[in-house]
Amino acid sequence: MKKEYDFLIVGSGLFGSVFAQCAIEHGKRCLVIDRRNHTGGNTYCNRIEGINVHTYGAHIFHTSDDGVWKYLNRFVSFNNFINSPLANYNGELYNLPFNMNTFHQLWGVRTADEAKRKIAEQQGEYAGIEPQNLEEQALQLVGRDIYEKLIKGYTEKQWGRKATELPSFIIKRLPLRFIYDNNYFNDKYQGIPVGGYNALTGKLLEGCDIMLNTDFLQHRAELTAKADTIVYSGMLDAYFDYRLGNMEYRSLLFDTKTLNTANFQSNAVINYTSADVPFTRIIEHKHFEFGTQHHTVITIEYPMKWKKGREAYYPVNDAANDRLANEYRILARKEANVIFGGRLADYRYYDMDQVIRKALDAAEQALNTGR
Ligand code: UDP
Repeated sequence: MKKEYDFLIVGSGLFGSVFAQCAIEHGKRCLVIDRRNHTGGNTYCNRIEGINVHTYGAHIFHTSDDGVWKYLNRFVSFNNFINSPLANYNGELYNLPFNMNTFHQLWGVRTADEAKRKIAEQQGEYAGIEPQNLEEQALQLVGRDIYEKLIKGYTEKQWGRKATELPSFIIKRLPLRFIYDNNYFNDKYQGIPVGGYNALTGKLLEGCDIMLNTDFLQHRAELTAKADTIVYSGMLDAYFDYRLGNMEYRSLLFDTKTLNTANFQSNAVINYTSADVPFTRIIEHKHFEFGTQHHTVITIEYPMKWKKGREAYYPVNDAANDRLANEYRILARKEANVIFGGRLADYRYYDMDQVIRKALDAAEQALNTGR
């Protein structure tokens, strides 16, 4: 018997929404379900005082993938926001990412050669070695001063473990530059969707049936019966009832306040890099969209241990978790008529553009479109 839907899409974040858009465009029938009371996954914004508040943490879109950029621009345009966060270390302010402004603020150096000499002096025994963990990688890249002031405290709060117990790739997400340039990303394109992320995901989901407040894992049998193929973007280990054990994730607590002032911190993102401050960053949402409202909304972000019942925001891709993820991936490949994708189902620290690329590729494969 023909089922009601071609695709049951579990999770309406970017993976699910992009997949759904491609499927609808090819005449497929899609049911999108989400456990939350809204669509958009972690890109979802709550509108407070006319300000788009990034409910689940700051989302700044950036990519060098022409295909992804072109695809998104079919649905929204982007403003010209460039992320230039500051680091506050015990009251001292430094520019991020690590660039000539940071080096000048720290050491008074003015030229790239002077900065490189300073870093070389501080690399010590880590120069030229193959770094075994985040601490060694950071010391090798930027030397001890930057590591102590701008990396160690932030990283250990963020991940809840010693920098010596974290994979080195995490710190390589940040650019290191010997020019005066505070752009946090090296990508070709950057910005925030005009009208906010809800405008984007709303358009991507046009034409789908949507069921909110619906947890796939609690109603698996009846939901599965509705569609030929499932597109699953939830947690990989949860899909398999944790039968091989739990992978680790990092959670966050967001403390959001509306303030009766037009401008709280003069920047969208300020990181608090000292271990003595319990939060990692403060986001002032209006600055993502150059807001001119009389009020402002800020979110103080506290990293938290993940446990069942909390939101999983980051996979912890160390060797042990990756080994377990690989075992789950073997199970996933054997699962007939289920497509897994997104940060949680792939258990990878993807940026938004990587999720979109994966969804476009998965849709192309599933729909045989040869895009
Ligand atoms: N990081 C740091 N100091 C900072 C900002 C970032 O040491 O002020 C490190 C930290 O280990 C963090 C990683 O760089 O987990 C990646 O930072 P990114 O801003 O990419 O993290 P996200 O925005 O995804 O939380």
